[in-house]
Amino acid sequence: MQRTLIKDTVSKIGEEVLIQGWIDIRRDHGKLIFLDIRDRSGLIQAVVIPQVSPEAHKVAQELRTEFVVEINGKVNQRPERNINPDLPTGTVELEIKEIRILSRAETSPIDLTSDGLETEEELRLKYRYLDLRRERMQKNIRLRSDYMNALRQSLLKKDFVEIETPLLSKATMEGARDFLVPSRFQPGKFYALPQSPQQYKQLLMVGGFERYFQFPHCLRDEDLRADRGFEHTQLDLEMSFVNREEVMETVEDIVKEAVNTVGGKLKDQKFPVVTYQEAMEKYGADKFDLRTDEEKKNGTLAFAWVINFPFFRPVDKKEASDQYDSKSGWTFTHNPFSMPIPEHLDWLMEGKNIDQITTTQYDLVCNGLEAGGGSIRAHKPEILKATYKVMGYSDEQIEQSVGHMLEAFSYGAPPHGGIALGLDRHVALLQNEQSIKETMAFPMTSTGRTSVMDAPAEVSPEQLKELGIKIVE
Ligand code: ASP
Repeated sequence: MQRTLIKDTVSKIGEEVLIQGWIDIRRDHGKLIFLDIRDRSGLIQAVVIPQVSPEAHKVAQELRTEFVVEINGKVNQRPERNINPDLPTGTVELEIKEIRILSRAETSPIDLTSDGLETEEELRLKYRYLDLRRERMQKNIRLRSDYMNALRQSLLKKDFVEIETPLLSKATMEGARDFLVPSRFQPGKFYALPQSPQQYKQLLMVGGFERYFQFPHCLRDEDLRADRGFEHTQLDLEMSFVNREEVMETVEDIVKEAVNTVGGKLKDQKFPVVTYQEAMEKYGADKFDLRTDEEKKNGTLAFAWVINFPFFRPVDKKEASDQYDSKSGWTFTHNPFSMPIPEHLDWLMEGKNIDQITTTQYDLVCNGLEAGGGSIRAHKPEILKATYKVMGYSDEQIEQSVGHMLEAFSYGAPPHGGIALGLDRHVALLQNEQSIKETMAFPMTSTGRTSVMDAPAEVSPEQLKELGIKIVE
């Protein structure tokens, strides 16, 4: 017999079906045993009547929560007074004929019936494969897939091409520390894991693709916070022959379409555009929340754009990455590859009025949080060079850092710009989750340990030797 998904049982009243899934709850009423069975599509109440199937009743006595079973039974309409309006299958009940245990289960070390938020994070993530079974996590991860799919479809319709870029690469400047990977073939040399595909996506523009996107993992060795690990996923895109407004309009279109597709509620069909100066004066921050109290309660998403940021800021002495990135005391606020607004290009080229140079950067904010950011890029070698000069780089240091970009730009680079959206953040906003970890299948703990598997971990002396690495205690 073919498997019937639990959600489809409602249209099979009077028929015999085969279902497969987990025991969600077992209630032993002495003679009758009630079982709630769960599969990916839903939950159904089943009953074992000893007179009908003595064999099944015997098996049912053995069953415990989270056992995996296969059940043959008859779908019965529930009498009016027994209908459960809270359950999509609340109009039916499965009368069990046969039960086969496919897998037994130890008692779960974490409660799976709650939303899980009261459970200690280390424990939840150690048993993430169980934690993922809870209804809330099932919803979050499925919505994430739906949202990614909606974004992808929307981009493909607009002629974007999905292209992957390498994980093992050279350090990119994104304002955080790099994760380094030692090379076995060239001991003493290291790859860096990408903080973002910034440079590759620009090289794809030089490569003539004109419209690129991917959902890259970005790795940044930043201080951990309760709601943030070292890894996050972006929707990264880049476009050629566009100005700032055109990129913003494209991004707004795809975000709106995807949010609507997954049933999210938008405050504005046209996202307000606020300048950095206005935002600082009005809200005291470049991230702000435009929702009313009522909108906060009903899960509305209030997106807005922020533009006209300063290009440079003084180095923060406490930030290690600032120390690496800048040699002059000035560093970029967002992205060294950005173009200044046209009116300020001369200042950048001449290295004057540095504190007043405005970048073409645009940030997308939503409900008081950063939801994305991007810019029009410096596509001419001399402009990118001027940015590095402001940051105090010598010609030799510029060559060493971004020489490959300067060279690429010398072979006919189209004007281009793009953005990266924080995918985890978008899903968290859609689901009204406080932490982006609630939207990732296997996030990291606040102490930097991976879910389920215990990394970082020590490696064998042989592996270290191969890499030419000595651990200094
Ligand atoms: N690469 C930038 C980031 O990861 C985004 C962009 O400018 O496209 O923040």
